[in-house]
Amino acid sequence: MAHEVIQTAIGSFPTPIAKPSSVFLDYLGQVSASSTAQLIAVFMDEAKQNIGILFINNEGGFDSMFIPPSALAADNALTGFTGGVAVVNIESGMKISGKAIPLGVSMMHELGHAKQYIEKPAWFENNYAAAMKVTKGVNQPKLDIENDNLARHEAPVLKELGLPFRLKYD
Ligand SMILES: [Zn+2]
Repeated sequence: MAHEVIQTAIGSFPTPIAKPSSVFLDYLGQVSASSTAQLIAVFMDEAKQNIGILFINNEGGFDSMFIPPSALAADNALTGFTGGVAVVNIESGMKISGKAIPLGVSMMHELGHAKQYIEKPAWFENNYAAAMKVTKGVNQPKLDIENDNLARHEAPVLKELGLPFRLKYD
């Protein structure tokens, strides 16, 4: 198993929600009818890297996101997550075309970023570093990461579940 559902407050991270492992299984179940979601789950389990999965709520203070290893390097407690950490805020679900999207899809979006990182680490880290430097206007390096993730992971999952999807990040 190359994923680790984070159970306690570690390093600089906020405290996870209660019973995170059952939330993880619940969210996997929400997307199990999607072959792309199954592919992402298998990729995650077969990866040599350790992908952290952190479930938070709004008290955690931030939205769902993927944190690559470069951004964990300064915190000794977090360097074991060699595949990065997927953060899922369970109070921050997506809406597409006015329809509420199951949080399992948000989890697959963030795990899709972990897959991107593992497949092409230099591409991911270079775009991530460049995106962090953009302070105004269109953040193209961020859009490059996001739109690749939508095209290969999020949109196929949504389509396979019969839900509305987006091909451009907003
Ligand atoms: Zn994203």
